[in-house]
Amino acid sequence: MSSRTAVVTGGASGIGEAISRRLAADGAMVAILDIDGSAAEALASSIELSGGKAIGLTADVTDRAAIDAGLNEARTRLGRPTILVNSAGLSIDGPFLEITAETWNRSLAINLTGTFDSCQAVLPDMIEEGWGRIVNISSSSIHSGAPGLAGYVAAKSGVVGLTKVLALEFAKFGITVNTVPPGFIDTPMLRNTVEKGFIDLDQQTARTPVGRIGQPEDVAAVCAFLTSEEAGYVTGQSIGVNGGRNT
Ligand code: NAP
Repeated sequence: MSSRTAVVTGGASGIGEAISRRLAADGAMVAILDIDGSAAEALASSIELSGGKAIGLTADVTDRAAIDAGLNEARTRLGRPTILVNSAGLSIDGPFLEITAETWNRSLAINLTGTFDSCQAVLPDMIEEGWGRIVNISSSSIHSGAPGLAGYVAAKSGVVGLTKVLALEFAKFGITVNTVPPGFIDTPMLRNTVEKGFIDLDQQTARTPVGRIGQPEDVAAVCAFLTSEEAGYVTGQSIGVNGGRNT
């Protein structure tokens, strides 16, 4: 993967952080795009201290101009991106009857339109290169539903549909597009959802066949495969990382 430039949105925390670290450890040059630019830069420095190549960039995925600016900087500093992992996401809903139009629209903007825009911004590089790998992080809540997360689950379900369409449209260019819907993964987002009372972690652990909550590295390992050379015949797929739930 040493000649590849990878872009990871939401790459400074949780699952995105583990993916950024893993792709860099596997030899990719990683552009970490996150709304929290200082966290992205701090992670890039930490990756470089361990011998990897990474840059941290500020970009809100709800702002197409910011995505384009971040990608331009990534192209200049690291070369044309041919790997994209969309991990930026936020669960911000609440009880259904209390969801405002503003919250609903923001949830769709971050969790669905941000993925659309990031894919559209990077795909021309991949077409030019005749090679590309996209992994969209969705959520196992698309299988189970999740009370209090209507906008989030609707958006993540849209990500699965978007993934399938892109897989079909771009296969002829050597580009694969897959989605990973994680189960419960120990990250700041999950801890926040538990604190709000939307998830009972003990109950969910008891319902997980492997008997534990997932770690961000569990998701990163699957992304490492899906973005590798040898995954070229895997496209349009949804690869769950959920400890055996939703089988
Ligand atoms: P996380 O630790 O909160 O990481 C998400 C990262 O995305 C954070 O750095 C966050 O920045 C950033 N971000 C938020 N809004 C953004 C925006 N508009 N533009 C750019 N970056 C933005 O969460 P995580 O658990 O790792 O989640 C990663 C992905 O996995 C998300 O798509 C999530 O929906 C999905 N997922 C997670 C779980 C789980 O159990 N953890 C399960 C299913 C799916 P701030 O911290 O500054 O907001």
